[in-house]
Amino acid sequence: MYDLGDIVVMKKPHACGENRWEIIRVGADFKIKCLNCAHIVMISRKDFEKKVKSIKTKAIDVTTDIDNYVKFEN
Ligand SMILES: [Zn+2]
Repeated sequence: MYDLGDIVVMKKPHACGENRWEIIRVGADFKIKCLNCAHIVMISRKDFEKKVKSIKTKAIDVTTDIDNYVKFEN
């Protein structure tokens, strides 16, 4: 499944050359933000699932990393 904050790799790169996007909205329609130029695209879930190649970073992994970092700092 796809969650807010996930970084996904699309099959076709954006016009700016970047192919990694952050999911900023999930539902019947998805909103994704280009990691390079911050361009936001709204796309239906069906189209999104067709165009996505893989999940680069799950949002949950990032959270875990931050927790570990905080513990390390303490
Ligand atoms: Zn872009």
